[in-house]
Amino acid sequence: MDCKECKGCIHPFLKNELGDRKSRILLRHISECPSCKEDMRSEYLVIEGLRRLESGSDFNLRKDFERMLKAETEKNEAIHNTRLLVNMAVGFMLLLPFVVLIIGVIL
Ligand SMILES: [Zn+2]
Repeated sequence: MDCKECKGCIHPFLKNELGDRKSRILLRHISECPSCKEDMRSEYLVIEGLRRLESGSDFNLRKDFERMLKAETEKNEAIHNTRLLVNMAVGFMLLLPFVVLIIGVIL
């Protein structure tokens, strides 16, 4: 993902409208690109600031941004790992008949 694509994904991500796969790519880019991270922080402050203004809850957004980013990264990582495990299990199930067949031929 380049910076231009990243900047287009920040708003949908913060609105929870970006899919898991795209979010993962975005989070990886953000972790390596200070400029895009700063853009996301700015947008987060605006979106969350407005939301909290409406709900009247407390303001400590700078700290919350880092917390949100960490939580989202961990959540995305967990989803990715689960998906990987399922893919491996499916792959194993698909290969099993061939393994049995090969063993049958050898023995
Ligand atoms: Zn960037």
